[in-house]
Amino acid sequence: MKLELYDLHCHSTCSDGSNSPIQLIDIAKEKNLQGIAITDHDTVAAYTDSLFEYASLSKVDLITGVEFSTKYDKQDGYESIHILGYNIDCKNKKLMDFCTQHKQRRIHRFNQIVEKLELSGYNIKEELKDVKRNPSIGRPHIAKVLIKKGYVDSMEMAFKKFIGDKAPFFIPSDLPSIEETIAVIKIAGGKAILAHPILIKGRKVLRRLLSIYQFDGMECFYGNFSRNKIQYLIDICNDRNILITGGSDYHGDHKKFVTLGSSFTTQEDLRKLL
Ligand code: AMP
Ligand code: FE
Ligand code: FE
Ligand code: ZN
Repeated sequence: MKLELYDLHCHSTCSDGSNSPIQLIDIAKEKNLQGIAITDHDTVAAYTDSLFEYASLSKVDLITGVEFSTKYDKQDGYESIHILGYNIDCKNKKLMDFCTQHKQRRIHRFNQIVEKLELSGYNIKEELKDVKRNPSIGRPHIAKVLIKKGYVDSMEMAFKKFIGDKAPFFIPSDLPSIEETIAVIKIAGGKAILAHPILIKGRKVLRRLLSIYQFDGMECFYGNFSRNKIQYLIDICNDRNILITGGSDYHGDHKKFVTLGSSFTTQEDLRKLL
């Protein structure tokens, strides 16, 4: 029997996942999931008519989704806050324009980081030529080539030694605000959910985010966190009467220890979301 569970957070080859959107549908079916949302970083390129047809034939519910990067200013720079948008109209003009702006921002920053590495003698440019066709290029693509070239031996080390937020080749990005991002999701008819709040440093920051901005919900089920930590988030959602979601953040080979469906949204919570 099929479990009525939905993984509402995964990435495809349209951003930094290693499985194509079609493969994600196949894996969801294999794992007996009722449905998925493909939440690529700053793009909805996965959502083609043919993907909806394929999902329908496979009897996997395909819910539209996206994961937007935003900026929360702090004394010593900024923290990038991720916001999930669900049940959005992927053809909405405002949403499409917003994704185009992100694409340009990403290309600009990508080129800056690559140049900086090249100047220090890390020859990666040639290997990255094809990557530029990806609708959402980012640091994970650079990390992969740093590994391929033998400069580091894992994704973690690539971020730690080269391109992570505190590493020497980090270049800040001109990210849009939380406010604008939530507004775009709502204009496109969707729900704005605070992604993986469990990763936000400091409970005060979390409380502040929830009181300043109009989030529709929080991604409470995520990763291998303790029952206590998850319950803390669920209690906040219930107090504020906002939605509860869950998802694995599956990236395929790029995050080997996470499988599709390892965190999920129940049918009841999905019904509230839609
Ligand atoms: P970008 O959007 O280009 O700034 O890249 C951020 C993405 O890189 C995140 O969404 C993660 O998928 C990935 N990432 C960030 N930090 C790490 C890390 N330490 N190890 C592996 N992947 C990471
Ligand atoms: Fe990612
Ligand atoms: Fe994220
Ligand atoms: Zn994600």
